[in-house]
Amino acid sequence: MLLRRVSVAGAIVIVAAVAAVAAVAAVAVTLLARELVGGGGRASLTVTVAGRSVHVVEGTTLAGAAARFGLQPRAGDVVDVNGQALRAGVVAGSFLVDGRPASPETRLRSGDRITVVDGHDRREPLVRRVVRVTGGMANNPQFTVSHTPGEQVIVKGALTHELLSVQFRPSGPARVEQAVALTFDDGPSPQYTPRILAALTRLRVRATFFVIGYLAEANPDLVRQELRLGMAVGNHSYNHPEVPPFAQLPPQLLTDEIALGEQVLSRLGARPHLFRPPGGSTSPRLVAAAAALGQRVVLWSVDPADWRPGSRAKEIVKRVLAAVRPGSIVILHDGGGDRSATLAALPAIVRGIRRRGLHLVALTANPRAAQGATGSP
Ligand SMILES: [Zn+2]
Repeated sequence: MLLRRVSVAGAIVIVAAVAAVAAVAAVAVTLLARELVGGGGRASLTVTVAGRSVHVVEGTTLAGAAARFGLQPRAGDVVDVNGQALRAGVVAGSFLVDGRPASPETRLRSGDRITVVDGHDRREPLVRRVVRVTGGMANNPQFTVSHTPGEQVIVKGALTHELLSVQFRPSGPARVEQAVALTFDDGPSPQYTPRILAALTRLRVRATFFVIGYLAEANPDLVRQELRLGMAVGNHSYNHPEVPPFAQLPPQLLTDEIALGEQVLSRLGARPHLFRPPGGSTSPRLVAAAAALGQRVVLWSVDPADWRPGSRAKEIVKRVLAAVRPGSIVILHDGGGDRSATLAALPAIVRGIRRRGLHLVALTANPRAAQGATGSP
């Protein structure tokens, strides 16, 4: 306080001296003169406003100077977790005098520095939840039937409940299930899907069907039948584009293929939220695009190439049983061509797997919290 008084006195003296010897530029003299007159003859102070040196009459308040020089800090917004404004212009800006917050009534002293501080955008408060994942979490992309124990750390906006992030924290190594998942791609096929479903039902097997969107649209009853029989139904894209490899599609097209396929399935009541890219073509970008739509990418670990023209049932059985082990995901086909060999191979495949003490399971979605995009409460 004492220091400041000294400096005020000093500045007044300097201003007076400068005026007396008339050694300032004409503009400055004019400004000074106007301040002196406008202030009713009161002394003038030199202060720095937003980096510019100016004169004000003695007794000028911070609010007065702000009005006089048109200083208006920009108000900030309250924004959601994605940076969208929720409430515009509600975080007021402020003035600092000599780097410290000051009230509008503060009387300025010579040498004071006034700084305009815009209101910062303020993000809505966040809520963080830790959820233990009972049964563990499948990998993404998933190649085998295995689950990693751990917990999900979920961060959402407290106002909008929009999802900011979900992170899985493993608490131990992945557990491979004593199970094998049979999966069937490229259906539904009016010719083969009903027969494959009948065989699976006879064998009491739950399997997973990765269906093509436009075929599911054309054969909705087959998808409903799959669901009714306890099968899982996953998304195999809408059009099954193969050239260029699926993961190399332009980003928008890739997202559309996943989203359209999923929409067809949602309308039919299928909710496993699993996506198998055509040809198994994958990339980190594809996994992220699918995750943004709430879907996990599922590939496979055993491919007996039942789709290869001329494949015989015996060969398909042999290739599956030679490769299968705990946790295997086996890719077969119920659509896309003559599937009679696949159909004929099923009983021996199922028996062979069970003889090793392995269960046959349908694939399931990860816990709901694991799914990315929507963040409703
Ligand atoms: Zn396919």
